Amino acid sequence: MHEMMVAESLLAAISTEATKQNARPVNARISCGMLNAINDEVLCFAFEAIAKGTKCEGMKLHIEYKPMRGRCKSCNESFDVELSHPECSKCSSEDFELLPDAPLLLEEIEFATEQ
Ligand SMILES: [Zn+2]
Repeated sequence: MHEMMVAESLLAAISTEATKQNARPVNARISCGMLNAINDEVLCFAFEAIAKGTKCEGMKLHIEYKPMRGRCKSCNESFDVELSHPECSKCSSEDFELLPDAPLLLEEIEFATEQ
């Protein structure tokens, strides 16, 4: 299962950071491309399961999907592709190429403030 592998690498990355900061992580923000075949519910479930008993137990993942990017073949503009209306944002040409989907990224970890 793809999500399980993603959850494991996220847990490893967050744990490393938590050890470095000596703090308990509470939230993490993740971003990935829209075409990335990640099911966020499955990912959160997998993460919760493997985080049990670690310092990441109970923390929440927030996944943000980035729009697809295209590059216009007429004017060379890069733009967010709207699925309902795929055309260049600058010259309205429909002749464009799709750029590679954004990779899955761990954007930010929020730690609990210790008293
Ligand atoms: Zn254009």
